[in-house]
Amino acid sequence: MIFRTPSYYSRFRCIAGDCRDSCCIGWEIDIDDDTAAYYASVEGEFGRRLHDNISGGCFVLGRDERCPFLNQQNLCDIYTELGEEHLCQICSDHPRFYEWFGDVKEGGLGLSCEAAAALILSEDMTLTEEEIQEDDFGECDGGLYSLLLSAREVIFSHLDSDSLLTALCTALDFAEALQQALDSCEYTLPEWTETSAPAAADSAGVIWFYTSLEQISPDWAPALRASGELPAGELTADDTAMLKRIAVYFIYRYFMKGAHDGEILSRVKLAAVSVYIIARLRRRGSDMLLTAKNYSKEAEYCEENVEALCDAFYDLDIFTTARIKGLLHEELDPGGIS
Ligand code: SF4
Repeated sequence: MIFRTPSYYSRFRCIAGDCRDSCCIGWEIDIDDDTAAYYASVEGEFGRRLHDNISGGCFVLGRDERCPFLNQQNLCDIYTELGEEHLCQICSDHPRFYEWFGDVKEGGLGLSCEAAAALILSEDMTLTEEEIQEDDFGECDGGLYSLLLSAREVIFSHLDSDSLLTALCTALDFAEALQQALDSCEYTLPEWTETSAPAAADSAGVIWFYTSLEQISPDWAPALRASGELPAGELTADDTAMLKRIAVYFIYRYFMKGAHDGEILSRVKLAAVSVYIIARLRRRGSDMLLTAKNYSKEAEYCEENVEALCDAFYDLDIFTTARIKGLLHEELDPGGIS
C-alpha cells in the first residue's frame, strides 16, 4: 500500500508539558476495545486506578475536564507507567489523521494541536509517498479518485502560484463546475477559470452562524463577535503565506473525501470560509498559530460542527459561492486592489 503524507508529518513530536492547550483536557476520550481489555488486565495499584477512572469505554474526566491520568506537570501517567505502546488508539494517533482510498492511504497532522500547527504553518506542503505493509484496503471508485487527485493537484498548483484571493475564488468556481459534472456522472475536469463575480458578503450572518455552533471554549464566541470591531487591514507577506498553508491544509485533508461520497464543493467552501474566519480573527493582532489552532479545535474538531457547516454551505444564502467570494474580497483585499 502507498502511504502519502505531507513532508513534515514524520517530524511531529508532542510537546507534552509545554503544550498550552493539551488535548488531554476538554475532550471525551474513547478507549478502543483492545486497549480497554489490556487496561482491565493490569494489576496492582495502577490497575486499580485504571479501573476506578474508566467508565462506559471512556476515561472519567476530572475537574476542568482533565483526563484523570494527566498529572500536574501535564504529562501522561499511563505513558509513564505502562509505556507509549499502551496508550489507547485515539491517544497514540492524535493529532494524526488517516484516510484510505483503495491501496492508497493518506495521512496528515491536525491543525488543532499547537505542535502540529507549528509544522503546518511553517513550510509549504510537499507530499511524500512510501510503501507500507497494511492489508486493510478501503473501497474506492478508482476513476473518481484519479479525477479528484488531478483536481486537487490543480488547486494546489494555483495556491502555490497565484495570489491567495485569486486562487481561492477560482477554486470555488472550479469546484462548483466540477460538482455539477460529478452530479451529472461526467468525470471530466473543468477549466481553471473564474466564472462568476463576487456578491455582497453577509459577514454578520456568517459570524452569527459560527457562534450558533457548538462551542468548546467560552472565549470562542466573544472572540468571533469582537473580530469585526476593527476593519480588515492589509495582510503581511508572512500572514498571507500562513493563510495559504491553512488553505492547503483544508484542501489536503478534506477534498479527497469526495472520492467516497462525490461531494467536493462544500469541502472547498470549508477551506475558503476557514481562511476568511482565521484572517478576520487576525485583525486584532492575535498570533496566527494560536488563532488557527483555536479555529480548528472549535470548528473542525467537532464532528457536529463540520456537518452543520457542510449543510449550511448548501442551504444558507450567506454561503453561496458568490457570497463566499465577497467575504474573501472583503478580508484579503480590503482596498479592492486585486
Ligand atoms: S495538543 Fe498536541 S502538543 Fe498538545 S498535548 Fe496534545 S498532542 Fe501534545
